[in-house]
Amino acid sequence: MRITNEHQGEIVHVDAVVIGAGFSGLYMLYRLREAGLSTRVYETGEGVGGTWYWNRYPGARCDSESICYNYTFSEELYKEWSWSSRFPEQPEILKYLNFVADKFDLRPDIQFRTRVTSASFDEETNRWNIQTDQGDQVSAKYFITGVGCISTANIPNIKGMDNYEGELYHTGHWPHEKVDFKGKRVGVVGTGSSGIQSIPVIAKEAKHLTVFQRTPQYSVPAKNHPYTEEFLQKSKENYHSMRELMRNSVGGMAFKYGENSVLDHTPEQRREVLEAAWEKGGWAVLSAYNDLLINEEGNLLVAEFVRSKIREIVKDTETAEKLLPDHYYGTKRAIIDTDYFETYNRENVLLVDVKKAPIEEITSNGIRTEEGEYELDVIVFATGFDGMTGSLFKIDIRGRDNVALKEKWGNGAKTKTYLGLTTAGFPNLFMLTGPESPSVLGNMPAAIEQHVEWVMDCIEYLQNNEIEVLEAKVESEEKWSQHCRELADSTLYTKTESWYTGANIEGKAKGFQIYVGGYNEYRKICDDVVLNGYDGFTLVTGKANKVI
Ligand code: NAP
Repeated sequence: MRITNEHQGEIVHVDAVVIGAGFSGLYMLYRLREAGLSTRVYETGEGVGGTWYWNRYPGARCDSESICYNYTFSEELYKEWSWSSRFPEQPEILKYLNFVADKFDLRPDIQFRTRVTSASFDEETNRWNIQTDQGDQVSAKYFITGVGCISTANIPNIKGMDNYEGELYHTGHWPHEKVDFKGKRVGVVGTGSSGIQSIPVIAKEAKHLTVFQRTPQYSVPAKNHPYTEEFLQKSKENYHSMRELMRNSVGGMAFKYGENSVLDHTPEQRREVLEAAWEKGGWAVLSAYNDLLINEEGNLLVAEFVRSKIREIVKDTETAEKLLPDHYYGTKRAIIDTDYFETYNRENVLLVDVKKAPIEEITSNGIRTEEGEYELDVIVFATGFDGMTGSLFKIDIRGRDNVALKEKWGNGAKTKTYLGLTTAGFPNLFMLTGPESPSVLGNMPAAIEQHVEWVMDCIEYLQNNEIEVLEAKVESEEKWSQHCRELADSTLYTKTESWYTGANIEGKAKGFQIYVGGYNEYRKICDDVVLNGYDGFTLVTGKANKVI
């Protein structure tokens, strides 16, 4: 069924509606279609790719090793695609997702340039009524969101923004054309993953770069390098073992965490382990020990190691001091970089501490902080996203009794899900990598595959057993949310303010909405729910609404 808008105004009936054509939407569509279910995917962008469609800023690349940063559901697909390097850049990842869309002929069921604006559950028909900004009206039995955890840009509300006469960009909504920094004075606001990836690249091209840093961040070298033919061949030969390792690992990647506690080692042994990890790059420092995120004393030792590296790299002592983070290592998303700290040794780069002297205003010429004005031709906001709930709340999703999801979740303050996939009062709604799933704490494609496969198995179960409605029980989500909170509180994550806790968004309720128990544990829990007959859900058969 090729999608056109020629029947605008008519209500289209399908089995499933999926929002988003990123990693999750594409695989969900593939699986639904394989199962013979009619499906429509709505995607705001003009092409597939999700995160990788929008985040086109200079230096954007993945931070999972590429041989794991792909689908593994199809051995054929895995073997057909070859990555150029350990951490490839955005254009290559976007190319991969286009390759997948072409290989499985997914585009005919995707309607691009279309935003789903609202969706409400009709208790009479047990179907979702969905509307888009293009006038589509769709009735679907299953409503599946693949909107991403970090896709709603956070553009800070700074006085005077409209007065600025230069060019203004956000890393998460980067133009498709190349932005020319040559001969220009550029300002980057924000030093999270996006800032740290883009700053070295922009610095090389711009006449001058001013970095406006609120919170210094830990970052370790990515040590990116091209892959050899031999390596690629071997990784393809090891497809099955690699897939197994990913599926049974804490973060969906093909490595294991160190076996020791940070405190098991003498200072000399620790230095040796961490130096080796630093040289290896990528996630090696974070995974060098088994208790970094639960052991306060151990964490501080590793944090001090990274700080010592920053002091070693950055030549100007005052700049180096400004760059030293003081939160627990890894409790803000760990970052890997290429020449980030080295960039501050360039003559054309200035670091401005906006915690000490906050930004007061965007003027027509640039940025004014409490300490003075910085004239800029270009401002880049690398200020992140309204994570986890932001994109869901942009859609007016209404469940039973016309209750809005945003209202039920108290604008984020009372978010409650069962397994991070479903929520009570919203039957047959599945949220891929939703709040309280482990998703963002690892390799997203691996998390996505597990979610899509669980949802697909569930839908097939419903179809095969003539079940009309699956709905999380209130007590199940209470229990799951509490479990998520207790787990998070047993770690250091909740001791640091970050986008994980919602602290980056002005006025957003704070709370840690991610399951921290690891992908492997989470998979077991989800599988057990199925083995126990969809334990924790209410299942309703037939039109007579009989509960089983
Ligand atoms: P982020 O981690 O939330 O960083 C945003 C930065 O902007 C922080 O330094 C923040 O400071 C600063 N900021 C926010 N509002 C500000 C304001 N009003 N004034 C001054 N500074 C402000 O966002 P991100 O860098 O886009 O990364 C978000 C997530 O996306 C990452 O954690 C990661 O999961 C994902 N990502 C991944 C990759 C990758 O490597 N594959 C690349 C990019 C993004 P505070 O820390 O003080 O809030």
